[in-house]
Amino acid sequence: MNRTAIKDTVNKVGETVTVYGWVNAIRKHGKIAFLDLRDRSGLVQAVDLTGEAFKKIGNEYVLKVVGLIKSRPEKMINPKIVTGTIEIEIKDIEVISTSLESPFPLDTDGYDINEESRIKYRYLDLRRPRMLKNMLIRSEVTSFIRNFLKDRGFIEVETPILTKTTPEGARDFIVPSRLQPGKFYALPQSPQQYKQLLMVAGLEKYFQIARCFRDEDPRHDRAYGEFTQLDLEMSYVEQEDILNLTEELFTTLVEKLFPEKHLAQKPWPRLKYHEVIKKYGSDKPDLRKNKEDKNELAFAWILNFPLFTEQSEKDYFHGSGKAKFAPSHHMFTAPNPDDIALLDKDPLKVRGLQHDLVLNGYEVGGGSIRIHDPKIQEKVFELIGFNKEQKAQFEHLLTAFKYGVPPHGGIAPGIDRLLMVLLNEPSLREVMAYPTLSSGQTSVLNAPSEATPEQLAELHIQVSRSKKPAK
Ligand code: ASP
Repeated sequence: MNRTAIKDTVNKVGETVTVYGWVNAIRKHGKIAFLDLRDRSGLVQAVDLTGEAFKKIGNEYVLKVVGLIKSRPEKMINPKIVTGTIEIEIKDIEVISTSLESPFPLDTDGYDINEESRIKYRYLDLRRPRMLKNMLIRSEVTSFIRNFLKDRGFIEVETPILTKTTPEGARDFIVPSRLQPGKFYALPQSPQQYKQLLMVAGLEKYFQIARCFRDEDPRHDRAYGEFTQLDLEMSYVEQEDILNLTEELFTTLVEKLFPEKHLAQKPWPRLKYHEVIKKYGSDKPDLRKNKEDKNELAFAWILNFPLFTEQSEKDYFHGSGKAKFAPSHHMFTAPNPDDIALLDKDPLKVRGLQHDLVLNGYEVGGGSIRIHDPKIQEKVFELIGFNKEQKAQFEHLLTAFKYGVPPHGGIAPGIDRLLMVLLNEPSLREVMAYPTLSSGQTSVLNAPSEATPEQLAELHIQVSRSKKPAK
């Protein structure tokens, strides 16, 4: 297609070009009509000397415009747009598609617009420059991560979405099986078990930009339903190796992609869980020196977590029933080797080889060195109160560990949360293309929806119409 991107028109003074884009605004001055045309690359002013265009064109119409690029007179230069030194004198206009009036303005930052409306018309909301920029940066961040890890010998692997429970302390989403009526898949809360099995398989260094599914109550920094994490795992490593790799990854990422930002501390501070709790009353302290500074990034490691927490009745922990202990991180985290004896004597005193990554008061990642001794794994299952059936759910892992398992560990930084902080956005939904509202309603397609009687019959499922949601 013969098409000039709008940002490139600025270098084509004296040439006749064809541009395509949306009508961002249209104004009339006497006989002349001025159109601001927009594509992904920017905005340009096009002038219709006949004024005819004004009659047939509206905002957000898609146009093909053929015109001559002319320099603007000095006093007409608009420094606010990349093409502000030129304008296009229109020779021909074709309306490619018309547009209804947008339900909300697209040339503002959009924060004040009702969110239900924004996600219902997400394809329009994403047209606003702020959202487009967020999508572009998100793509740059994931590309950077991929290249960085590939250069260091990591293999990118996709793991299943239809799977069995992978407990990370939240409720599972379950999917009924048609072929085995009465049985259910669970969507992965993370690829945790698969990545550990990849270490048994000998991949040594794995990563994935992974989608994770957790049915837990949303907050501004926790998306409902699904989110994305950089999941990685390595064999023959110590905690130190994981911390160093992660620190180098995000330090260089910030330097390359966010040069306006500065790190509060380099190297990142490493703090002990108990000390942090004592000093800040939280295990994700905001360590910025100046909280007004939009460009300060205070990364820190939190280490020396207890392996278990005492389980209260309120705690939701998958399947552990009335057990006294719940894992602080997850049930695959290794105890500190110096504390193994305490597993029998005083489990709450056992330290885990867990590492949490915090940034400006948010937990942006967590990981650990894993248990690779099946006996210790069984011991942990017992302490968290797993009965025989629950243990059987993880039999595959214990079996795999009987076939020569390298010591391994990893981490999973949350991509959405990291971007939210890097882009100074107030909510995760601002950095996701199609977020879900806190009611559970999805963007544009408005899921969840009812299944047809035929679908339910095929699955052998009967829906009870009782109004009370299960607790
Ligand atoms: N699977 C863990 C999580 O999602 C991260 C990890 O231990 O690597 O929090």
